[in-house]
Formats: sequence, structure tokens, C-alpha cells
Amino acid sequence: MPGGMIFSFDKISDLYFDFDGRKIFFYPVPLTASRVWNGVEICDKDFPVERIFIRKKRRSVKTGSDEDLALRIKNEKEFLSRIYTRVSQRMWDGDFILPVKTYKNIKWNFGYKREINGYLAGQHKGIDISAHTGTPVLASASGIVVVARKFTLEGNLVVIDHGTGVFSIYAHLSKFHVKEGDFVRKGQIIGRVGSTGRSTGPHLHFGIKVAGLDVDPQIFMNINKVLLSYYNGNSNETRKKEGMREEGKSL
Ligand SMILES: [Zn+2]
Repeated sequence: MPGGMIFSFDKISDLYFDFDGRKIFFYPVPLTASRVWNGVEICDKDFPVERIFIRKKRRSVKTGSDEDLALRIKNEKEFLSRIYTRVSQRMWDGDFILPVKTYKNIKWNFGYKREINGYLAGQHKGIDISAHTGTPVLASASGIVVVARKFTLEGNLVVIDHGTGVFSIYAHLSKFHVKEGDFVRKGQIIGRVGSTGRSTGPHLHFGIKVAGLDVDPQIFMNINKVLLSYYNGNSNETRKKEGMREEGKSL
């Protein structure tokens, strides 16, 4: 691999898959990567800044100290990151679908920088789809439910393993319709929109992870075009012609 890239996966071979008679290997790049990352030259991208002002410290738990809360969040993050580095056989096929059909608004805010009270607080790792509480949330592609439980920040969270290192993430749900270990088909109802965890109102936070890194969900909603354009050469030109958004080229 270029630059001697290190992957901590058990079965590297499972990261490859067949597509249109070719061998494809996902090579995600961290949002924070600049210039050269593992031998790959990275183009700069200026993500917009979202400014948020919070008057009082939000108390998302009624009991326990700040240290307990910080530790719990850290443990939850570690638990999830172990899941995201698993690689199973490919279960997805074709374009991923938007997981909410009847929505009020979609913010294509992948990678947007979050500034809370003037301080940079990381980048947004998905897209936000606002909808009424109780609106069905659908599996974006087929796979196995590997997480269906409550977290401090994400609230009620569903994570689907689609194989080849690809996971989809559905946060702040009001209700689960699946349990861990369930196989789900693309379009199947997995839960309901809510505002659990750190959320300011009913919406679905939808994210995609590849090999443990965040990528723009739009890429997977257009995955056939994206894969075809990459091996037909000059991917950006092809994507422009086909009317894809220019945001979030972090794959
Ligand atoms: Zn979000």
C-alpha cells in the first residue's frame, strides 16, 4: 500500500470487493488530513463553520459528576471505535438510500466545523435530517445491526455493519425497531426519529464510517457513480458532469 499504510484489521482481504468486474479497495482519509496522508496527496477543502452559542452547561445526566460523565463518554467512544474497525463480508449492493423519507429539512453538513461559544469543537461527522418525532428511520443499505442501545451523546443509537469496513450510523432515535444481531434489508424500518442524547430537537444524525473513518454519506448515496467515475479517470470532472455536490470529498 502507498506509503506503507497501516491497517489494524484481521482480514485485510475482506476490505477488497468486486465491483463491475474490478477489485475495489476503499481508502478513506481522515477529515483532519492535510497535504500528504499515508503517501496520498490530499487536496485542501475549506469546510464551512457552524457557530453555536450555549448559555448554560447542558446537563445531559441528572446524577454523577463531570468526571464520571467524561469517563463514560470516553468508554462509549472506545467501545464504538472497536466496532468500526471490524471487517465483514460485503452485504451492501448499489446506492445507499436516504434513511428518512418524510423529512422537514436536510443539512448536508458533513465536515462542517463546529464552533461552540467561540471555540472549535471538532467537525460534524454526518448529515442532519430534521423530521417529526416518530418518523420512520430506514436502513440505508442491507447489513447486520451491531449496535442498538443508548449512549450519552448519540442517544438511542443504531449502527449497521454493511461489510467491507462500511458502517452506517443513526443517532438520537426515539425508538428502536431492531436489536443487535438482526439482519436488515435496505429500506427496512430500524427505528424512529427522536431527540435523545445531545440533541437540540427531533432529527436524525446519519453518518457513514469506512475502516473507522468518517466519510460523507452522499458518497454512498451515489456509490455506483462514484466508483465508476474513479476508474474511468478524472473523478472530479465526471462527478461534476453528473451533478454531484462538491462537498466532502474525503474518500
Ligand atoms: Zn449531526
